[in-house]
Amino acid sequence: MANLIPRPSFLAAALLAWYPRHQRDLPWRHTRHPYPIWLSEVILQQTRVAQGLPYYETFVAAYPTVQDLAAAPEAEVLRYWQGLGYYSRARNMHRTAQQVVTEFGGQFPSTYAGLLKLRGVGPYTAAAIASFAFDEAVAVLDGNVYRVLARIFGLHSDIAAPSSRKEFQALADQHIPAGSPADFNQAIMEFGAIQCTPAKPDCLFCPMQQQCWAFQHGQVALLPVKSKAKASRTRYFHYFVLRHGAHTYLRERREKDIWQGLYDFALAETTVPDLPTAELLRHLDALGAQLDTSQAAEPSATYRHVLSHQKLEARFHEFSLARPLPPATLRDLGLRAYSLAEIEALPKPQLIVNYWNQNG
Ligand code: SF4
Repeated sequence: MANLIPRPSFLAAALLAWYPRHQRDLPWRHTRHPYPIWLSEVILQQTRVAQGLPYYETFVAAYPTVQDLAAAPEAEVLRYWQGLGYYSRARNMHRTAQQVVTEFGGQFPSTYAGLLKLRGVGPYTAAAIASFAFDEAVAVLDGNVYRVLARIFGLHSDIAAPSSRKEFQALADQHIPAGSPADFNQAIMEFGAIQCTPAKPDCLFCPMQQQCWAFQHGQVALLPVKSKAKASRTRYFHYFVLRHGAHTYLRERREKDIWQGLYDFALAETTVPDLPTAELLRHLDALGAQLDTSQAAEPSATYRHVLSHQKLEARFHEFSLARPLPPATLRDLGLRAYSLAEIEALPKPQLIVNYWNQNG
């Protein structure tokens, strides 16, 4: 660390003066109730505020209490989540709501340590709820906070390394004022989101220019230090969109893989982009699919979708069936024939939604 920490903290004073003049008016900032605060934190992880806001409003309207969310069917929760990605967050959120109801009598624990006992609630979310709802002086650490601290204090530890958390947490906890932990936490995250941004921080009009190590040393663009994420792999999906009359066959993804609990079509995955015709026919045969024409339709254009560590390239092969799929296929693959209205209501990965909106 390049600076000594003055007392009282210049950081807290500057942030608390900056925050009222710059904060965005967001609905979860008008409540001290842990349930909507928790909802907002889960939704906003890895999501921009503008994207997350309508989802927050949808969830609060659909499930006004944690009991409502706990009692909802998982497919319905996933359907409301559709388009936000990282679906394990939605499933964990649902399970945590059930845990709050069954193990905690419908009340969120009121301390940082207690909140950590909730499934899917890590240090960041626990600190956010403990400070925003219960005024506990524990500092939040998210990407914004890491960046602000690294620059102001000249910290060069790799923020992607788990070992750096302790160092940053200790520093943030030193600065959080006991009298206004909620405002401090909101302020430092907001400061990182709109003033000390990753690419073009507004250093010219920054109230901490004088104390900022990175600014004073011309290293703003070099901090924080973050090692590269592991390379992503490409997967090639070949979907069989099988229609019989007004119905189309989909299945719920149950395997330990991406998109658990969401619905897609019968799928063959390959390690190369193309699916040779002989392979395609073999898959159709294995499905027991009897086509109502001997002509295989051209596959769709390639639909691309990027996940955190995977790139997906999907092609869709549409076929009309002369007969319904045999019961054994439905049982073995979990496929079912759905009407258009039913498909609309099913939770689907964004890749499937993109295809279906153009071709459904
Ligand atoms: S001077 Fe620039 S880098 Fe330093 S805290 Fe302010 S905005 Fe961030």
